[in-house]
Amino acid sequence: DELRGEDNPNRGSRQVPGYAYSRVLPTPVAAPRLLAWSDDLAATLGLTRPTERGAAVDALAGNLVTDTMKPFAARYAGHQFGNWAGQLGDGRAISLGELIATDGSTWELQLKGAGPTPYSRRADGRAVLRSSLREFLCSEAMHYLGVPTTRALSLVATGDDVVRDMFYNGNQRPEPGAIVARVAPTFVRFGNFQMFAASGELENLRSLADYVIRHHYPEVGEPGPEVYVRWYEEICRRTAVMVAHWMSVGFVHGVMNTDNMSILGLTIDYGPYGWLEPYDPDWTPNTTDFGYRRYAFGQQPQVALWNLARLAEALALLVPEPNALRAGFDCYTQTLAGTRYRLMLGKLGLTQRAPEEDEQLINDLLEALAEAGADMTIFFRQLSHVAPALLATAGAEEARFQELLVAAAYTPLPHPAYAPLLEWLPRYLARLRQETAAPADINTRMLAANPKYVLRNYLAQNAIQAAEKGDLSYLNTLMQVLKTPFAEQPEHEEFAAKRPDWAWDLPGCATLSCSS
Ligand code: AMP
Ligand code: MG
Ligand code: MG
Repeated sequence: DELRGEDNPNRGSRQVPGYAYSRVLPTPVAAPRLLAWSDDLAATLGLTRPTERGAAVDALAGNLVTDTMKPFAARYAGHQFGNWAGQLGDGRAISLGELIATDGSTWELQLKGAGPTPYSRRADGRAVLRSSLREFLCSEAMHYLGVPTTRALSLVATGDDVVRDMFYNGNQRPEPGAIVARVAPTFVRFGNFQMFAASGELENLRSLADYVIRHHYPEVGEPGPEVYVRWYEEICRRTAVMVAHWMSVGFVHGVMNTDNMSILGLTIDYGPYGWLEPYDPDWTPNTTDFGYRRYAFGQQPQVALWNLARLAEALALLVPEPNALRAGFDCYTQTLAGTRYRLMLGKLGLTQRAPEEDEQLINDLLEALAEAGADMTIFFRQLSHVAPALLATAGAEEARFQELLVAAAYTPLPHPAYAPLLEWLPRYLARLRQETAAPADINTRMLAANPKYVLRNYLAQNAIQAAEKGDLSYLNTLMQVLKTPFAEQPEHEEFAAKRPDWAWDLPGCATLSCSS
């Protein structure tokens, strides 16, 4: 109610000047059926797992709208791949309203794939099972890895078919549709502010800023020109923390358009994301981006800053001295560097000692990893075992290092590309010897910083293929495994395996396109 909502939107797709959102109703689907459910998130929200069909699942599919729900689609704009795209908005996501969690916090619940809105442009407002399953799984996996993220409560099959012209199928075979219920304190993005700035809607711009500050950034103070500056700096800080975490686990968002940047610094909008398997800063899972590789792994820190600059341009209309917003850029750069450094020290089991030398050690490692193209997750996980063990009992070091690299390598060893990594390992071990903690404690710390289980692209693909055939057991097991990604789970070793041969060129596995 603090923002201007359009009341009786006709269903046509169009420009919606003057409003922050449109009140819309989800379009009912044929046969809602619960496929997956996030128990932990549900517990936080005070919800219990519904049965496979019934009123609760109808609500999660948009078929049942209760009196207490206030469904709406938000209006936002954005830069897509660096180009101004004008009004975009929630073209297939419809928020049902807010839930109050058991701890008193408020959470927006949003159905993605719930049907057309005024912002659907030429698209159908729907989502296919494979992309919904990917969003559901990854939102939760990221949470358990400790990465700031929006959450996912449920995955519901709609019983309707959706047609996508994708090379995934090789044709236009209809695919099963699905709806994910996403959950976050708010889904407001950079693009919501850009929308108002671009169309000169100053009052809407200010109301939205005040709304976000009052509800989500109370710590920066009562809204006003100086507080806008402090708030922007805090957005920069949170965005930096998020990106640093992405870099430390090998996550590639894939579509860092400004409309996909959460104002809370949460990972949002899981589309053609991917996980680094071979370490490669130039890698992107997004086939739409194969030319410029704008959103490749190694570009993410710069792109986030570019996006923050676009946000600053919008917020500049609210502050008398727009240059003051520049402090946010420094905050971003410093927080990013500091957080990446801290996370990387943690992954290596090191404590603060000689920052310059350690930074060199880290940079050399990342270069050597890129040269080798070793599996990022396996490398760090193996290191967590091998290095502390070598501290405890020296000897046979070269053999242990060889073994480690064989475990992480995608080519037969020895291979010249692995020479820098092999040289780096003894250097690192010498540095690790300067630590005073007991090897067992270092081992524990490293295992808690280096996940064994991440959502490898082929694992998601396995879950999709099984689910499309009606078998949910793989999805359920994978979800369970990803809940404790830092734990050894001997019965689930196969979920930690290197990318298999079959998965290298499979569309939808190594590579994905934008909207599905
Ligand atoms: P994305 O690249 O997923 O962030 O989507 C960009 C824009 O396209 C957003 O405004 C989405 O709501 C919209 N969009 C994507 N897919 C669909 C769809 N199937 N129906 C309607 N709008 C869509
Ligand atoms: Mg989006
Ligand atoms: Mg998307």
